[in-house]
Amino acid sequence: MPEHDRDGLLIIIAAPSGTGKSTIAKALFERMPRLAFSVSHTTRPPRPGEVDGQHYHFVSDATFAAMIDDDAFAEWARVHDRHYGTSKGEVARLGDAGKDILFDVDVQGAELLLAAYPDAVSIFVVPPSLEELERRLRGRGTESPDQLATRLANARRELSCADQFSYVVVNSDLRVAIDAVQTVIEAEGHRRLRNPRLASYVRDMASDP
Ligand code: ADP
Ligand code: 5GP
Repeated sequence: MPEHDRDGLLIIIAAPSGTGKSTIAKALFERMPRLAFSVSHTTRPPRPGEVDGQHYHFVSDATFAAMIDDDAFAEWARVHDRHYGTSKGEVARLGDAGKDILFDVDVQGAELLLAAYPDAVSIFVVPPSLEELERRLRGRGTESPDQLATRLANARRELSCADQFSYVVVNSDLRVAIDAVQTVIEAEGHRRLRNPRLASYVRDMASDP
């Protein structure tokens, strides 16, 4: 019976910076073996502990511009004064491997990916409050005061884009938020239209004399 024989999912997850999206994604990769991370290109420098090719492909402005000219991106955007993009090559590579692909992008990237892949699942993660968001960003301690201010100023604009997502998850209690995102992904995987082989197997069973 083709129980697990569905096509890979495209899952877009976005959140104002500091909400906890990377923390949630990390937990999901440990729980869901079919889930793979779409490694983006960025012109921002690596944070301590970030690995080139694993968290991002860290590239120069010139390399990023050349990739735009070569039409190498499925989407790209300027976010917090840096460039970030999802390469078409990354989507093809993970898709060919049958993976469920998790795209960690900003709200502009989410809109562009949804236009390109209307079947994608879109999830917006929000903080319980702006005060808590600021606490988390400060606590992470990875941004300069200027960068922190930019990210906080962008948070309100990003929150106003919630309507473009199918699912909204509040990251108040981390465990609850991880469970909620996992539930959404698993439920989407059970949609009949995403399981054409299973659907036709069931139809054949029904018509079996
Ligand atoms: P993002 O990827 O959305 O920018 P991170 O995953 O880096 O955010 O999380 C920002 C900070 O908030 C990190 O220090 C992380 O440990 C912390 N954090 C994440 N989720 C929670 C939560 N539910 N409660 C408290 N702190 C959290
Ligand atoms: P950070 O610098 O904190 O890693 O990411 C900043 C923002 O850029 C986050 O909202 C993140 O989701 C977004 N981002 C990361 N990769 C991409 C990408 O490939 N495309 C777009 N549009 N945004 C991205």
